[in-house]
Amino acid sequence: MNELTRRGFLAGSSALTLMASSGLARANSSAVETMRLLPVEEAYAPVEFIQALLKMAESNDTMVNRYIKMYYQKAGVVDQLSNIDSRLAHMDKYGIDMQLLSVTSPGPQGFDAEHGADLSELINNKFASIIKAHPTRFAALAAIAPQSPERAAKEVKRAITELGLNGILINSHIQGEYLDDPKFAPVLEAAVEYNAPIYLHPSYPPDSMIENFVDYGMMGALWGFQAECSLHVARMLLGGVFDRHPKLQVVLGHLGEGLPYWLSRMDNRYQNIRRRGGAKDLGMPELKRLPGEYFRDNFYVATSGMNWFEPFEYCIRVMGPDRVLFAVDYPYERAEDALGFIHDAQARLPADIMHKVTHGNAERIFNIAPAAAMNFG
Ligand code: MN
Repeated sequence: MNELTRRGFLAGSSALTLMASSGLARANSSAVETMRLLPVEEAYAPVEFIQALLKMAESNDTMVNRYIKMYYQKAGVVDQLSNIDSRLAHMDKYGIDMQLLSVTSPGPQGFDAEHGADLSELINNKFASIIKAHPTRFAALAAIAPQSPERAAKEVKRAITELGLNGILINSHIQGEYLDDPKFAPVLEAAVEYNAPIYLHPSYPPDSMIENFVDYGMMGALWGFQAECSLHVARMLLGGVFDRHPKLQVVLGHLGEGLPYWLSRMDNRYQNIRRRGGAKDLGMPELKRLPGEYFRDNFYVATSGMNWFEPFEYCIRVMGPDRVLFAVDYPYERAEDALGFIHDAQARLPADIMHKVTHGNAERIFNIAPAAAMNFG
């Protein structure tokens, strides 16, 4: 038992204990052990996919497509997203043992249904060959094109059972539609059947929302991503998705896109509207449980782009240490920041919690074999 565990932070399960022994007291960082690092939101794209994305963006002059062109025409970004050798060198430089790869936003979701499904298969075949070449360094989340729900469901099956991928990633809205729409039920059913968590990654707001996000650089991760993705999650929580698919597991980046902070208010307002008898008028279905209860039982959050101790600690308290995961968000976030954050957190929280966050939860949730050669528990 190390110094931090003896300190008793998060010892026992009572919230009072958690509050009383807040991790604000700093431990001696020289005692921090090296832990296996398995970040879970690491962007990848094959060159063929980026070319297809740019071609689509060229054909339709929207604000989002201008943004895509600006971003993905940079040679450096293309190389970072597609080149496995330079990625491995980067991982070695920063002590990252393994990356859980996923296709960069917006993925194949903006394409025509059949083209999008074809691209998802191309991406997943690339993932399989990367993992085959480097089985101890990479795992991957399958890309799918939910705009073709039946093909997407088949691709979930193929990706998990034939390619051995570790879950699926959906880049939030599907051409302005959301996963609470019953048309996407085959995708969610396949995710549950093949035990594939859905990583719900943000995307640019859809056409119906974009107008108010085009100013001040707000369209992407500055504000548009979390505004759009949190809306998506609220629709799923309030739309009965987890009554219809109680075993569905969803992973969110960016410490939950703000949701962990709003659970009490959602529960309160949901109950308030029901008490007042307004649920029918507002089109609010009767849920079996409270929105916040689904969030605590069906969701995980990753630290991508949120290298900030206080909300991280808050998420551990609200969701429990089994539901928080480390992520860097390569190549969009600086590894120095993410590594500085996670090493600082190791100096402030007990080792058993940090084992879970840095790699243990990811191994369990995404069915990744622990590194047998590494003595990191
Ligand atoms: Mn990301």
